[in-house]
Amino acid sequence: MSPTLVWFRLDLRIADHPALQAAIARGGPVIPVFIWSPGEEGSWAPGAASRWWLHQSLRALQEQLAKLGGTLVLRRGPALEVLRKLRQETGAEAVFWSRRHEPQIIARDASVKEALRADGCEVHSFNASLLHEPWTIQNKSGKPFQVFTPFWKHCLAGTPPPAPLTAPSALPAPKAWPESIALCSLELEPRLDWAGQIAATWNVGAKASEQRIKEFASHAWDHYSDERNRPDHLGTSRISPHLHFGEISPRQVMAILTAQGRPGWLATQYVTEIGWREFAHHLLYHFPHTPDTSLRPEWQHFQSSHDPSALTAWCHGRTGYPIVDAGMRELWSTGWMHNRVRMIVASFLVKDLFLAWQEGAKWFWDTLVDADLAANTLGWQWTAGCGADAAPYFRVFNPITQGQKFDPDGAYVRRWVPELKNFPLEYLHAPWTAPTRPPAGYPPPIVDHAMARDRALAAYASLRESLKQS
Ligand code: FAD
Repeated sequence: MSPTLVWFRLDLRIADHPALQAAIARGGPVIPVFIWSPGEEGSWAPGAASRWWLHQSLRALQEQLAKLGGTLVLRRGPALEVLRKLRQETGAEAVFWSRRHEPQIIARDASVKEALRADGCEVHSFNASLLHEPWTIQNKSGKPFQVFTPFWKHCLAGTPPPAPLTAPSALPAPKAWPESIALCSLELEPRLDWAGQIAATWNVGAKASEQRIKEFASHAWDHYSDERNRPDHLGTSRISPHLHFGEISPRQVMAILTAQGRPGWLATQYVTEIGWREFAHHLLYHFPHTPDTSLRPEWQHFQSSHDPSALTAWCHGRTGYPIVDAGMRELWSTGWMHNRVRMIVASFLVKDLFLAWQEGAKWFWDTLVDADLAANTLGWQWTAGCGADAAPYFRVFNPITQGQKFDPDGAYVRRWVPELKNFPLEYLHAPWTAPTRPPAGYPPPIVDHAMARDRALAAYASLRESLKQS
């Protein structure tokens, strides 16, 4: 039997990997390939933090494959050219891969599939990243869902996804391995080493992701519903980058939770959050314009302001609002930010600073290790009020009361904003109200929240008015 190329993308694991299993089942040697082709991802090529993660994750996959007697062949794109060349070099007559759901990638993959099939090659793609792929779920009118609760109810009422596939114990090797370029030659890691704190925060790779879920099951699962909004506690699973890079699949997450005695398939809060991830992919697939434009057409006329210095202050965590600054600095240091704080900083950018949500989404894209086009788009449009099932625009997060409620002891702010380390708790979330001056070096608020809230609400009212008249 001729070899099969297994094209790895956002599925950097060997367990629960249908394409890899199918390649083994086909018979003949299996040649794992990764192709670096950021130019094929349009304006959403992996950002700097994602590239750092990808480097570590590829290294972890190389180790996993080596234990099976395999090698990960690394090449630079364009993808079709590389796959064709590898077919010539190895005599491979089949190419298998796991599907992705970003619009640019769907288009690229469709043309690769068509061209390879026209060459006479067997091509198959598989679902490795979702419980339910977007086109399998529709509402009673045969349309995509735009509201989460009925979407998720529908998913839960359907046939449960199959159990995850086990990892293969060996890979049939070709007589000779095709040449591979060195991982470091992909230049995914930064030249200036700004990633030290990110590296200290995370263990990357499939093994680490399983470990993380096991730890979550034993330490945080029982209190997840109460604790998931507390950025000062380790209350969530922090599995998002592992899920994004496909180091673990949602089916594996469920299976590990079940094996640890946690009710994986009951409608628990945690499983609902995994449902939000599914919903994000559903929306991105059915509304492919949404990474750049608002899902709700009326919002495309909304005029936000352009203020580079306010944007810079937000990016650098120097807005003078401690919970916002703590979140932005956590992001810069670790490549991750707690979900509650993501909502607070996003609301602050859109409503207090009155900047376009797309500016915030781009910064997140570059700095998050879990930057995911579906989830990032949903998160920003939800907060801005312009997406599916979005928070109403008039819901403006108050950065002071949010800080007081979700970081009541100030531990989160003190950790990420060291200037305020010794500031009295009473004034910690609004330091300018203290009778003593805030510590030197910490900025005064760049905007007055009450004024900004009124400005945002007035702009919203005027948008509604102009729509009524048009
Ligand atoms: P847990 O609470 O442990 O949840 C488990 C998993 O459920 C998460 O890993 C994630 O895959 C999924 N999940 C949880 N909440 C959401 C949600 N609201 N939307 C979609 N999936 C969810 N998530 C990303 O993975 N990538 C992004 O680029 C991203 N950008 C965001 C931008 C904004 C403005 C907002 C408000 C949210 C964004 N999120 C994003 C969603 C959410 O903040 C993260 O998924 C979550 O913080 C990850 O932490 P965790 O793994 O500890 O989550």
